[in-house]
Amino acid sequence: MNYYSLHHKSPKTTFKHAVVNGIAPDRGLYFPENITPLSKEFIDNIADYSNHEIAFEAIKQFVGNEIPEDKLKEIIAETISFDFPVVPVDKNIGTLELFHGPTMAFKDVGAKFMAKCLEYFNQGNDDEVTVLVATSGDTGGAVANGFLGAKGVNVVILYPSGKVSDIQEKQLTTLGQNITALEVDGVFDDCQDMVKTAFLDDEISRTLTSANSINIARWLPQMFYFFYAYKQLHQKHKDIVFSVPSGNFGNICAGIVAQKLGLPIKHFVAATNVNDTVPNYMKEGIYTPKPSKATISNAMDVGNPSNFIRIQQLFDNNFEALKNKFSSYSFTDDETRVKMKQIYDSANYVADPHGAVGYLGLQKYGLQENEYGVFLETAHPVKFLDVVEDVIPVKVGIPEQIKKVIDKEKVAIKASSYEDLKAFLIKE
Ligand SMILES: *Cc1c(COP(=O)(O)O)cnc(C)c1O
Repeated sequence: MNYYSLHHKSPKTTFKHAVVNGIAPDRGLYFPENITPLSKEFIDNIADYSNHEIAFEAIKQFVGNEIPEDKLKEIIAETISFDFPVVPVDKNIGTLELFHGPTMAFKDVGAKFMAKCLEYFNQGNDDEVTVLVATSGDTGGAVANGFLGAKGVNVVILYPSGKVSDIQEKQLTTLGQNITALEVDGVFDDCQDMVKTAFLDDEISRTLTSANSINIARWLPQMFYFFYAYKQLHQKHKDIVFSVPSGNFGNICAGIVAQKLGLPIKHFVAATNVNDTVPNYMKEGIYTPKPSKATISNAMDVGNPSNFIRIQQLFDNNFEALKNKFSSYSFTDDETRVKMKQIYDSANYVADPHGAVGYLGLQKYGLQENEYGVFLETAHPVKFLDVVEDVIPVKVGIPEQIKKVIDKEKVAIKASSYEDLKAFLIKE
């Protein structure tokens, strides 16, 4: 499969190069040259296939012959090692729980798949690659875990000192091996700026790559979730509407790829917090990025969502066609808290703030009698313990995955400027 840059000023490239380089030389995002629908027979009989088989069918055209089939199946088996249940919370509403992976955030799937692809492509190469990521919390843990032990790949994670939760910090700083955490004296934007500067620094950029959702190997596997939900729901014979709590819009964009592959999905709702660049665009047709605002659903605090351009491309940049299948609504922290409490009172279900924003999206959309709504639960409530226990009268039990890291000792290197980061990368 070939990929082209959405800035249209770089040559087409292979899956391998798109994964290894992350972004095109013209700074555009890579996009697959064609998307061929899967057979109707496969979709109609989806319940006969295992989750591994479904993932393989969905992703194989995007990889092409660049990874042998057996190897790709092995990568999928390592990536999809936990369940994705749809849990009913109301008469015609269920939540697709994406948090049963090793770090309890949905990013586990994309991070592991990308790590395994990169490891495969870098074997036999003497140069080690360094994956550099800035995190405001959730991404770092998933990337650290996904890349742990990957041969020929070092991972350097920058996080803002004192600005991530204790659990998130432990997930980043206790793994060792090929994972190094840099504790930055500053806020998330400072971490992000340091990473950006490194990518533009000719002295070190050659061996660096990024692991955020612009990378096709992190973005595309997220489409599996939508197949897994459909597999569990198709017997209801209802039209399915997905509401996806969105920040960089990678997850929902992967859902739209699943729809292009022939998965029967009636409508997508992109639910956001007050970072409402896309909801405003859907109202006015004008895209105005803004600085991000801090909220209780902080994994979605994004003012200029990087994957929205891919969504526009999936609808051939036709605003009317987009509006037909896609809506976007924004919600405040107060609305989110009220919804968390309501879901708990009515269904005895503990939703994290991101999931609650997803639920609000379905409500605003207004489901019809023949529709079934699914909101994605993108993180386990334990990841947002302070907010959850403040709003809902429960003690959230600590799951095994979290217990494993909570008593380990934090190891992090302090950094306060770009020079510190550069010195560290050169020394490596
Ligand atoms: C990253 C993240 C999101 C946003 O996903 P995008 O693909 O960036 O839209 C939502 N919820 C949680 C918990 C996340 O970690």
